This record gives sequence, structure tokens and C-alpha cells, in this order.
Amino acid sequence: MTVHPERSPRNSERRARRAIGFTQTGGKSKEGATSKEPLLPPKRDVSVVEVGPRDGLQNEASSIPTSVKIAFVNALSASALPVIEVTSFVNPKAVPQLSDAIEVMTGIQRVKGTRYPVLVPNQRGFDRALEAKADAIALFTSATEAFAQANVGTSIDGTFERFGPVAADARRRGFWVRGYVSVAFGCPYLGPVDISAVVSVAERLLELGCDEVCLADTIGTATQESVTSTVQATRESIPIDQLALHFHDTSGSALANVERALELGVRTFDSAAGGLGGCPFAPGAPGNLATEQLIGRMELLGLRTGTHLDAVKAAVDVVRPFVPRLRRLTA
Ligand code: MG
Repeated sequence: MTVHPERSPRNSERRARRAIGFTQTGGKSKEGATSKEPLLPPKRDVSVVEVGPRDGLQNEASSIPTSVKIAFVNALSASALPVIEVTSFVNPKAVPQLSDAIEVMTGIQRVKGTRYPVLVPNQRGFDRALEAKADAIALFTSATEAFAQANVGTSIDGTFERFGPVAADARRRGFWVRGYVSVAFGCPYLGPVDISAVVSVAERLLELGCDEVCLADTIGTATQESVTSTVQATRESIPIDQLALHFHDTSGSALANVERALELGVRTFDSAAGGLGGCPFAPGAPGNLATEQLIGRMELLGLRTGTHLDAVKAAVDVVRPFVPRLRRLTA
């Protein structure tokens, strides 16, 4: 898989890179990273985690044929994205949009250099993921008890009881494991979230063996101020190269939040091709940060993502006919 050819940044790019704290490729930021190792492989300053096929399609009302989902993931693979979250092995009755998870996971062509995690809530979901020959999983819990109860019907401790054995088994098998903290920047039931609760849950995910911990702005209310305070608190105990952020563009501030997080040393961001996803708590609002927007902004800043923007746009065209909101965008 080819990535961007190496090239010397132009002066304007160098200035932009300095402005957000880059001194070398994948290197330290002025404020953040403490690791002496390069944060990311060469040729990539920022890692884009594509969540469209799972988080995006899960939250779109329309039903997408299995063959289209497979074609979508394959088209995304042609973008050289380092991570594509393919589907979810939650209860198909709870998320009927992704009830074809095994067919999708076994139908895609996996490309070397890309990870293909699947969402897994518990042992039953993990068993199905194993059946589908997954080798990377994403677990999810919440920063608030109210959201955990509403989302999965148990406490935060309850979520850890459900997926703790799964994480241990996955680690033994050599899987890559990601852990999500939902509503890390705001809860639809409680409003502002206690940052110490975010840090505590993130630490528990790391202790469980997660390779990466992702703080999710599930309802899209993060601000540059809350990003600053939350990342500063979290990076005290979570290595910055194991921390990812997941923004929704509900209030149009996702890219500004990404840029603030870059200044703080974060180098991994989630996004969904086409901005798929919407927000169940804000009907009609934009969904996940669009992958095209994220990659485009990184390129403007002179930061390499190692991905092919045109291929991402081509992947969006694969699902466009099946997602009314995307059809409207072209009208
Ligand atoms: Mg999302």
C-alpha cells in the first residue's frame, strides 16, 4: 500500500507545523508528548480512525444492503486509512442496522497496513467477532452512570464486568484492543461531565490492556475549553500516543476541537467518511466529523495522514445513494 511520497514541507507548511507544536515528523509537541519514541510511523503525523461503517451507519435510519457495506469498507481500504472500524457485534435486536456484522466482516478484503476493529460489548459479541475472524476489537463504556444505564442498561462497573474477560482473552490472542469512553465531554442526561470520572474510566481501560483509549464527544458539545481541560487531565496518566479523540460536528466545532487537541499533543482522531452518523440526541444535526474534512484540514496544516483524500471521496459515493442526508448534500 502506497502512502504519500516523502516530501519536504514548504515554508508555509513548516510555519503551520510549528504553530501546532510539531518539531519533527511524529515528534514531540511543545506542550505534550513525553515519549522519546516517535509517536507514529514515518510518513504519518496524524492517524485517522475511520468509524463510518460502524458508528456512521449505526446511526443512519436507512437500511443499507450488505453488499454496499462491504463495497464501502473496501473502497475505504483503498484510502490507506490506518484503522477502519468495520461493524458492531452488539445485540442485533438493539442495532438492527448492523445485524449483518458477520457477513460484512467476512466479506471485506483486508489490506495490509490497515486495522479492522469491530465493536464488542460482551462475551456473546466477542464470540461472533471470533466467528467472523476479527483480530481487533473496540470496547465501550461511559463517563457517566446515567449514560451507561440508558445506553446499555448497566452501571459503569457493569460494563467492565461484561467486557473485562473479553479484553483479557483478546489480549491473549494478540488482538489490538481499543476502549471508548462515551460522553466524555458532555452527557445528554447530566450536562457537563466530571473530568475526574473521565480520567478514572480511561485509566481502567488502559489497565485492562487497551492499546488505545478514545474519548468520545458523543453529543457534540465539546468546546476548546473542555478539550483543553480534559486532555490535560487525561494525559497525566494515559500516554499521549495511546489517546484518541472522537468528535461530532453537532455544533460545528469539531475541527476547532481537533486543532486544539493537536496543540496538546494528541495525534489520533476519529472521523466518518461523509460525516455519516447524525446524533440521536440532536435530530437533524451533523454527525461524526467527516473524514474528508479532517484529512483536508490536516493537509492544509501540512500534517501528513498517509491517506488518499480522493479515495475517501470515492468511498462516500458508494454509500451516497443509500443515505438520504448525503443525497441532499449533492443536490
Ligand atoms: Mg460517533
